[in-house]
Amino acid sequence: MQFTDSHCHLDDIVFREQLPSLLAQCAKLAINRIIVPAISPDNFDNVLTIAKRYHNKPIQLHACLGIHPWFLDGLNNVHLEQLTAKVTLEKSNIIAIGETGIDGANIKRSDEPIKELAKQQHFFDCQLNLAKQNDLPVIIHHRQSHQYIVPMLKQYKLARSGVIHGFSGSYQQAKDYLDLGFKLGIGSTITYSRAKKTINTVKRLPLESLVLETDAPSMPLSPEVMGTEVKSKEFMAKEAISQEVATNSPINLIKIFNVLTTIRTESSEEIAEQLEHNIEQVFFT
Ligand SMILES: [Zn+2]
Repeated sequence: MQFTDSHCHLDDIVFREQLPSLLAQCAKLAINRIIVPAISPDNFDNVLTIAKRYHNKPIQLHACLGIHPWFLDGLNNVHLEQLTAKVTLEKSNIIAIGETGIDGANIKRSDEPIKELAKQQHFFDCQLNLAKQNDLPVIIHHRQSHQYIVPMLKQYKLARSGVIHGFSGSYQQAKDYLDLGFKLGIGSTITYSRAKKTINTVKRLPLESLVLETDAPSMPLSPEVMGTEVKSKEFMAKEAISQEVATNSPINLIKIFNVLTTIRTESSEEIAEQLEHNIEQVFFT
C-alpha cells in the first residue's frame, strides 16, 4: 500500500527543523507523496523551495499556489496579479491552484460581513479563473460556505476539477461536489466520533470520490484516535515516529486511513489502491 497526503502545510515553521527526519518517517510509512498548498504571497517562495528541494527524495513533494480566504487582510488586486505572474512563471513546478475558497464563519464574525463576503468571492473567483486559464485543478477551503461555493463551481465548470479539502457535511452537499467532478479531502474530522453526519456521508459515498489529507499542522486528530494503538502493519513502524512533532503531522495520515477502513466495507488494500488512483486522476493526468 502507498499513500498520498493531499493537503499538508509542510512549509510551516513548526516542521522546518525536523523536515528531513519527518520525510524519512513518511517514507517508512509508505506516505510517498505530499501535496503542499500555499496560503498567501508570503509563503509562495517557501512552498516552491521545499517542493523543489525534496522533489523526489526521500518522497515526492508537490507545490500549489493560491491565496487562502483567512489571509486576505491587506491584500488587493496587486496580490492577485502577483499570484497570476507566479503561476505563469512556475507552471511546470506546481500541480494545482490552492488553497482558495470561502470561509462562512469568518464572514459571520466580520464587522462588515457583506464586504468580507464580497472580498472572499472576488479572490475565489479570480483563482477559479486562473485554474481554468492554466488547466489546473483547484484545492478548495470550505467552512459553513457550501451555499457560496457550489454556484461558483457550477459557473466555472472546471475540466480538471479538484479537491474540496477537509470535507465535512451531508451526503447531499457531498453529492453536489461529486456531480461537478470534485473529490473530497478526508481528514481528521472522521476521527471524532461526534462528527456523525460527516462519518455517515463518508460511509455512503463512492470510494472513487475520496482522497486523504492531514492539513497538518492544523486540524489535530481526536485524542481518542491519537491515544489508540492501531495495529495495522504500516503502523508497526510507529517506533520511528517522533513525538515532538506538534499537534498534527503528515505521519498521522495512516491513522486517518485506519479510521477510514473502519468506516468502509472494502478491504484496506482496495481502499488504499483506489485512493491513490483518485489522486492520480485529479493531479497527475
Ligand atoms: Zn489547509
